[in-house]
Amino acid sequence: MGFEKFGRISFTSQTKVSEFVDYLEQGELRATRCRCCEKVFFPPRADCASCLGGDMEWVGFNGCGTLVSFTVVNYAPTGFEGDVPYTLALADFNGIKVFGRLSSKLSMNEIKVGMKVKIDVITLPGGQITYQFNAA
Ligand SMILES: [Zn+2]
Repeated sequence: MGFEKFGRISFTSQTKVSEFVDYLEQGELRATRCRCCEKVFFPPRADCASCLGGDMEWVGFNGCGTLVSFTVVNYAPTGFEGDVPYTLALADFNGIKVFGRLSSKLSMNEIKVGMKVKIDVITLPGGQITYQFNAA
């Protein structure tokens, strides 16, 4: 299977990390780790951005982290207009910074920098699969 099932809008149908979607469909969060320098990437990368090596392996990813920053999007880019308002966030997972959306079920009163978050795998209407942050 290709990568076309990932995300609200898939911009890429094929990648060297398309297994990521298969893992998500099984409810598993997986990252890639460089066998050379051991740097971990989530979302997964096929090549290491640290040492530029290409010898990567799949590893489990602990989706428990801390909210670093967030913003409410009221004017969305093309293709996402129907989703506004939504909240984009940056969260830290043991030193790995991940960008994503916060669950729309969280109220603004609940969202605080420093709060514990987890990554939920979600299936969108239409069958697309992605992940989002939620309160831990
Ligand atoms: Zn490396």
